[in-house]
Amino acid sequence: MTATETRPAAKERWRAQWAELFTEVVTSGLCTGCAGCVVSCPHDVLGYDDQKGIYRPFHLEDELGPGDCGHGQRGCTSCTRACPRFRSWETEADTYLFGREREPDEMAGVAKDIFLARATDPEMHETGQDGGLVSAILLWCLENDRIDAALVSALEGDGTTWKAIPALARTREEILATAGSRYTYSANTLAYAEAVEAGNERLALVGMGCQASVPGIMRARKAGKPGRRLGLSIGLLCSKTFDDAIFDELLEAKYGLARKDIKKMNIKGVLQIWMHDGSYHEVPLKESHAWTREGCKMCPDFAAEHADISTGGIGAFNDWTLTLVRTDAGREVIDGMRRDGVIETRPGDDDPGAIALLRKLSIVSRRRWPDQAVAAPKIGVPPPKPRAG
Ligand SMILES: Cc1cc2nc3c(=O)[nH]c(=O)nc-3n(C[C@H](O)[C@H](O)[C@H](O)COP(=O)(O)OP(=O)(O)OC[C@H]3O[C@@H](n4cnc5c(N)ncnc54)[C@H](O)[C@@H]3O)c2cc1C
Ligand code: SF4
Ligand code: SF4
Repeated sequence: MTATETRPAAKERWRAQWAELFTEVVTSGLCTGCAGCVVSCPHDVLGYDDQKGIYRPFHLEDELGPGDCGHGQRGCTSCTRACPRFRSWETEADTYLFGREREPDEMAGVAKDIFLARATDPEMHETGQDGGLVSAILLWCLENDRIDAALVSALEGDGTTWKAIPALARTREEILATAGSRYTYSANTLAYAEAVEAGNERLALVGMGCQASVPGIMRARKAGKPGRRLGLSIGLLCSKTFDDAIFDELLEAKYGLARKDIKKMNIKGVLQIWMHDGSYHEVPLKESHAWTREGCKMCPDFAAEHADISTGGIGAFNDWTLTLVRTDAGREVIDGMRRDGVIETRPGDDDPGAIALLRKLSIVSRRRWPDQAVAAPKIGVPPPKPRAG
């Protein structure tokens, strides 16, 4: 055997830049609008359009046109390194976070443990969307000096427009004010710049799967400081978000539910809506499909598979959070919270229907991943059952 035959193959140099991201992700339909590329850009030449249901990054300099970047041509690759939809993102993040690729049957991604949890603090439990677990995690991490700030989602202004926007939470009051779920898109990652400007170095990111994969993929591909600062990723299970237009075009036009009068929303098989006047309304989910946000239509990640801790509200117990602990960092936080009595938990086996639904909804999302993209997210996904008749 010659020396050349025994030498391990040299790793190919990462050269992909905005030009590749633009054609392979931003304009191909794979882009979720997670804004990982925007916050990773060391030259600040990527903007973010969140108007009229767009939720996409764009290049701020026009001398090379929208689809190329002068810094990229000179060797900058940060945006493609930070993108959780670029090329083999799932395999790379799995291998970095869990030391292996997911098994074909692991539809909801790799997890160490699955259980139900809720905050023992009554205010946190009451204010949270499900068990208030996410808020309790953020508060425990702040109080125990694990993080300086959390990137979360708030409602714009006095809340009457229901426009969800990225925000920072650094106190109990800010955590409570931003608890609960909004079903339109909020690229919480974008609160990163404000956090760093204010001197916060250790950050938790809360977000749906598209955003929850950002910290892991950034670290896996060495995208620089943002990945190191985003030390804790809290994922929200998610099938879709809606265009903001759903408020006027469906909820108000058909059901007379003005956005300024809505108090709380949830999705449990139907769109549940509580109004400030005390009334409660249900809108069939199939009526809402026409307002599915463009960036969600090819998303394969229901279970926030690259978060440290993933959380959801499916299952029989309304005021508990279905919880998947995925990483050692996630386990360390949950163990500490249990020790301090700030959460109570019960086994996932208490609600086998929730575990079955988690798998089912993960399969449904994975089927959306297009055949022309890399194969990994679709590996092991069973084909849909043929319709009767
Ligand atoms: C758009 C969306 C879709 C979801 N779909 C499902 C689903 O199909 N099935 C399921 O089981 N669970 C789903 N969830 C998760 C569920 O609604 C709860 O967020 C989760 O169970 C945690 O509940 P909690 O009481 O522990 O969280 P809380 O303590 O209430 O904390 C929730 C956190 O989520 C943040 N947040 C709220 N809205 C948004 C948003 N639009 N974008 C980013 N961050 C946000 C808040 O700022 C807060 O930090 C979805 C959540 C969202 C936001
Ligand atoms: S998926 Fe996220 S990181 Fe990738 S191009 Fe879109 S906004 Fe940027
Ligand atoms: S379905 Fe949810 S996780 Fe997927 S892109 Fe849309 S908001 Fe993100």
